[in-house]
Amino acid sequence: LAGPAPPAMRKGAGGSRRARSAGSPRSRRCHRPLLPFLALAAAAALLYVAWPGGERVTGPVSGERAGKGRSRWVLGREGPGKGVPGISLLSPGVLRPRGDPPTSPGHIVGCLGALGAAWHLELDAFEAVTPRGPVTFTNVVATVAPATPRRLVLACHYDTKVLPPGPGQRFFLGATDSAVPCAILLELAAALDQPLRRAKDRGTEVTLQLLFLDGEEAFGDWSVTDSLYGARHLAARMATTPHGPRGTQITAMSLLVLLDLLGARHPAIHSHFPRTHHWFLRLVAIEQQLRQLGLLHARPQDQPFFRLSPAPGPVEDDHVPFLQRGVPVLHLIPLPFPHVWHTLEDTEDNLHPPTVEDLGKILMAFVAEFLQL
Ligand SMILES: [Zn+2]
Repeated sequence: LAGPAPPAMRKGAGGSRRARSAGSPRSRRCHRPLLPFLALAAAAALLYVAWPGGERVTGPVSGERAGKGRSRWVLGREGPGKGVPGISLLSPGVLRPRGDPPTSPGHIVGCLGALGAAWHLELDAFEAVTPRGPVTFTNVVATVAPATPRRLVLACHYDTKVLPPGPGQRFFLGATDSAVPCAILLELAAALDQPLRRAKDRGTEVTLQLLFLDGEEAFGDWSVTDSLYGARHLAARMATTPHGPRGTQITAMSLLVLLDLLGARHPAIHSHFPRTHHWFLRLVAIEQQLRQLGLLHARPQDQPFFRLSPAPGPVEDDHVPFLQRGVPVLHLIPLPFPHVWHTLEDTEDNLHPPTVEDLGKILMAFVAEFLQL
């Protein structure tokens, strides 16, 4: 990993200062591992975009018009329960506990396949040897316009950690790890559906690609060989897949934005790489602008999500195989990790829906600006 001391933290080994024991008591409303998304319907960002001229993109616009600043768009607020037509985050199937029999990532494909931008969807299935024997993994690679020369890539992982169940058959749910990042990506695709389709029709230089990576979590102790199964496989494959006259799918990546461990209150997200610091500064500026416009739940005087202070250290995560191949990376992960990290408390009850919605809006604004939508 690039970066000075302290040594790299690992998703599987550190970063949480206040990790609770897996068996700490807390009442739960359900016992099925896929149900955190029931709450994510309310927690996920409900994003509405209005464009110059007042054309509606994904639904009724209730927000104020932004008459100042650089924004060409307006982010409105809608209450929970008014999701984007055709998109439901209620459906189970996004998070897949690793070690389960292979299942199709049907929810992701179903959400993106229903959109008007006609996403090109690819399932990157492969088998890898793990400490528990051979396991089949499936990455989902979604691209708006695959032939476009360059790509802005957003990524998250949709597998979950396998931990022993607690008392009363309570299972690890992984609401922040990484259901919320998955939900943000799907909501973003839905909210930007029409502008993405128009950009595709007019033929742009850069398009949007979403990576839903499998096998991020380690089966045993985090190691080079027991972690990041999906990212390692996909990065290697993309590095040898031609794209354009002289490049590959790796060299086509203008920027990879990796989301992980998001959804808890008061995230502190830092810039990790000098090469992409100018992009991080855009996130800082967008957050500040949206707060000042009153378009976020968070107030201007509160601590920002995107911090200018030095990162406590790099974190080994799904970006590493891409970073090692020269891809510019923004790693959007809070440090310290959420205190519920890798415990049975990483549930919908411990999410902070206003923060999820705010992060979704900031990211959507960033994408709209990057792609010049
Ligand atoms: Zn994890």
